[in-house]
Amino acid sequence: MNRRLSLKWLFAASALPATMAAMAWTRETAAQPARRSKSEWAALLPLPAYRVLFEEATEHPGSSPLNREKRDGTFVCAACYLPLFDSSKKYESGTGWPSFWQPLPGAVATRTDFIMIVPRTEYHCTRCGGHQGHVFDDGPQPTGKRYCNNGVALKFVPRADKLPELRA
Ligand SMILES: [Zn+2]
Repeated sequence: MNRRLSLKWLFAASALPATMAAMAWTRETAAQPARRSKSEWAALLPLPAYRVLFEEATEHPGSSPLNREKRDGTFVCAACYLPLFDSSKKYESGTGWPSFWQPLPGAVATRTDFIMIVPRTEYHCTRCGGHQGHVFDDGPQPTGKRYCNNGVALKFVPRADKLPELRA
């Protein structure tokens, strides 16, 4: 190993702990969960949003103005404001609920529920656990998935606007 190479290596090695610390910090901050009690969310949210997000209610089809939302932007969780879907992944499913074929990376997690007796795949915001909707296998390509979302569980932020600060 010549001198220049070994110096470069030493420099890289000394910078490593700082880089790793920065990565850990970013990951921890991004994943920082919003942990409010149900009664705290109930006090913060309009009742229809609370009932969907934290009691897994389903809004009436066709009731959400977000069905007709066609602008470029981001759909964030109505409880904690975590960005969940990009408008480029939204499509008209004809179901009466805002539908998407792909969530943002790491934004939602799934769980099987039996509320309607037949098993369905429920999905929720990974940050606050708020229920968003159900995912089905009859969506368009490239994923073939249909994320059927309650509009009341989302907030739309047009591309030109600043995303809201995550709600603790
Ligand atoms: Zn959330």
